[in-house]
Amino acid sequence: MDARLEAIRDTVLARNPGEAEFHQAITEVFESLGPVHDRHPEFLEAAILERLCEPERQIIFRVPWTDDAGRVQINRGFRVEFNSALGPYKGGLRFHPSVYLGIVKFLGFEQIFKNALTGMPIGGGKGGSDFDPRGRSDAEVMRFCQSFMTELYRHIGEYTDVPAGDIGVGGREIGYLFGQYKRITNRYESGVLTGKGISWGGSLVRPEATGFGTVIFTQEMLKTRATSFDGQRVVVSGSGNVAINAIAKAQALGATVVACSDSSGYVVDEAGIDIVLLREVKEVERGRLKDYAERRGGASYVEGGSVWDVNATVALPCATQNELDGDAAARLVRNGLLALGEGANMPSTRDAVAVFQEAGVLFGPGKAANAGGVATSALEMQQNASRDSWSFEHTEERLTEIMVGIHHRCASTADEYGDPGNYVLGANIGGFVKVADAMLAQGLI
Ligand code: NDP
Repeated sequence: MDARLEAIRDTVLARNPGEAEFHQAITEVFESLGPVHDRHPEFLEAAILERLCEPERQIIFRVPWTDDAGRVQINRGFRVEFNSALGPYKGGLRFHPSVYLGIVKFLGFEQIFKNALTGMPIGGGKGGSDFDPRGRSDAEVMRFCQSFMTELYRHIGEYTDVPAGDIGVGGREIGYLFGQYKRITNRYESGVLTGKGISWGGSLVRPEATGFGTVIFTQEMLKTRATSFDGQRVVVSGSGNVAINAIAKAQALGATVVACSDSSGYVVDEAGIDIVLLREVKEVERGRLKDYAERRGGASYVEGGSVWDVNATVALPCATQNELDGDAAARLVRNGLLALGEGANMPSTRDAVAVFQEAGVLFGPGKAANAGGVATSALEMQQNASRDSWSFEHTEERLTEIMVGIHHRCASTADEYGDPGNYVLGANIGGFVKVADAMLAQGLI
């Protein structure tokens, strides 16, 4: 790492102790940014990096609610409003027991660059809670969401901060959150949340967008090697929103997705995952992958273990951060991996990224490859602002254009900085320069 940046990085790490994921995200971005500061010394003089690493606002709050047995439960809520240089803070809410400030900050930091890469007018933010929706009844999830919004509402708004979903937050949760926001404020402010239901202000393609976008970005990478998804053998991790839609899109483009996972294990289905059955089990019944394997002839279920043991030519990690380490990366490379697109945020450890880059695997980092979700959220905001709703075809066309544009921006930035094919460098520099220019223009705030 460039010595000037290393000194700034060390200060940031010391100011934010115990936040391992945030440290990892910062280090990964800083490693790319040396050459930009050679060309733009004004960024150093204006302390852009120091300002970028300090969120504009961090909110932590108590979320009290009662479970179905009448017991009082207490969770912790977070919203980190990281950077508003390009637009209102924008980023999802994660409900998962592992959530703490370090996770929210890593996600919020990544979100700044991702949102800049989309070319849309959105800043970066993220939030969530250590609440675990798994195993909770609809009524419990509703009471939790209502309590969460009872504090959050005062910090958000269509021109201020626009949350969406992430792990553990899907259409059901967004519905309860929106209902409570409307009730407290007495405003039908559609643009305050994205990921809404289609009949009440949502956008077609938003549920599919992150998974679809990841596949479109990966397809663009494959084209640079004169190939495509057609005929590829694909392994996907996760079986949530992003994973399911990535599987659907990859198969629509002619690939065979032979495995996917959840936090308990993974399923191998050599005939190709049956997307209708998978949606039924995961989206309708909120069941486990084990149930899928029991109902699908020819599929096998492996309890625990690593889905990355299954050989593939294309890998799409779509579960969570640091789910793919250096050893798993080496196994995938040995087994013939050609390309990897990150549907999840930071699913590959730094060791894994080094293995992929060393081996010449086409590697699409999350902040570029999974930006289709937030980009379609921005399209949802556009539709809300104009009181309009677009067709599936038109919205998917816009998503495709945006993903092809992000791929082009990353690839051309990597070329410009002398490291062709390095999408990590291209994404980090491409996103950073846009935000840094806007921060410079807006003065010391
Ligand atoms: P979901 O909650 O719909 O699904 C998450 C999936 O990942 C589930 O299969 C879950 O398994 C698995 N998973 C979660 N945590 C772990 C863990 N610690 N270990 C193993 N498996 C785990 O979330 P999404 O699909 O929305 O999000 C997946 C990833 O994509 C996240 O990294 C998120 O930040 C990222 N992302 C999401 C976007 C969106 O639009 N939703 C946008 C951009 C990025 P189980 O059911 O067993 O918990």
